[in-house]
Amino acid sequence: MPTLPNNPNHVLVLNCGSSSLKFAIIDVNTGNDIISGLAERLGDDAPSIKYKFKGEKTTIKLAANQAHAHAIDTLVDLIKDHNLDEQLVAVGHRVVHGGEHFTQSVLIDEHVIAGIKQAATLAPLHGHANLLGISSAQASFKNLPQVAVFDTAFHQTMDEVAYLYALPYQLYKDFGVRRYGFHGTSHFYVAGQTAKLLALPIENSNFISAHLGNGCSVCAIKNGKSVDTSMGLTPLEGLVMGTRCGDIDPGLFNFLTTQLNYTAQQIDDLLNQKSGLLGISELSNDCRTIEEAAIAGNSQAMLALNMFCYRLAKQIAAYMVPLQKLDALIFTGGIGENSDIIRGKVLTQLAFLGINLDPQANLDARFGQAGLISAANSTSKAVVMPTNEEWVIALDAANITKEL
Ligand code: AMP
Repeated sequence: MPTLPNNPNHVLVLNCGSSSLKFAIIDVNTGNDIISGLAERLGDDAPSIKYKFKGEKTTIKLAANQAHAHAIDTLVDLIKDHNLDEQLVAVGHRVVHGGEHFTQSVLIDEHVIAGIKQAATLAPLHGHANLLGISSAQASFKNLPQVAVFDTAFHQTMDEVAYLYALPYQLYKDFGVRRYGFHGTSHFYVAGQTAKLLALPIENSNFISAHLGNGCSVCAIKNGKSVDTSMGLTPLEGLVMGTRCGDIDPGLFNFLTTQLNYTAQQIDDLLNQKSGLLGISELSNDCRTIEEAAIAGNSQAMLALNMFCYRLAKQIAAYMVPLQKLDALIFTGGIGENSDIIRGKVLTQLAFLGINLDPQANLDARFGQAGLISAANSTSKAVVMPTNEEWVIALDAANITKEL
């Protein structure tokens, strides 16, 4: 974890998607949110903002077809109406792709914007939304410094052996085609918190963290640094996810185009939106729904769960190559923090790593509780650790801007 700034202060954290905007005002000293919400269906016929303040949930309807700029203007009014503007010291933006240029969080200026634009060629949908969020926030919060925090930055410590694809080297040299990894703020945060929980020095510890939400990735963390991770050039590579397929044979592209006449856009849609838990179960991308259906006897839901766990266990086992020894396996994200079924299935397959599941602790670990789920006689531990990416973004923004 970064060190805490001296004074109590609040940071507005923005996370822009192509048609959504997640926001929260975070107290940097506690990590608690003062207000949090989501603007959805931006640019659509019925956009809205839903937010939670002092335990109360409110929905505001926005005018039809209004997008990010209007949502941020409405957010400014909301912040002023609740007298939350005086405590704000900065705006922190979650930026999905930082390419190779950004290895840490930065104060946003015109050079940084140019760098984000450059990296956006690698992830156009996310990059465009992030840039839109930054320009709208700059227009609406003229007096506040803005900081970019990159999902890729934590993984910039990977060695070229881990980050290169076995493609013609020129594609890397000329166009930056390589593995970047994502969920960096989350892997960084849970590793730091786990080191504290286990009273281990982070600079002398080996962790594997599994961030399992709608998007899923695993990261091998040696002495506090990412040495390998399962997502790649884009967040599609690696594990089975809610609607994403993860690893597949690239030969599939040829089959889909020549035999089934798929366009590039249709393939992208198939792999990103229609695959994963949803594709296999033909039911849902939501883990809870799949678990309920599997318990009720739905065989495709059971298959989806089993594939999810098998692929995850295989990826975790593979990271014993760079790590050699493991202090703890960390579960985080909506699934990792709540699903005793998934954790149990994965750990059963990984018993050879010396992790013995404590079944009761596994059942008890949910609803944002951190704790050990391995039995005392384990040689490597298993931990559930709630993530808090917004806090990392807020801390970075507060630290970078405190001397301004
Ligand atoms: P996230 O993207 O981190 O918000 O995680 C979303 C995923 O977490 C969805 O697949 C949810 O079904 C899953 N999830 C949330 N709560 C539970 C739960 N109690 N049991 C199983 N999965 C859950």
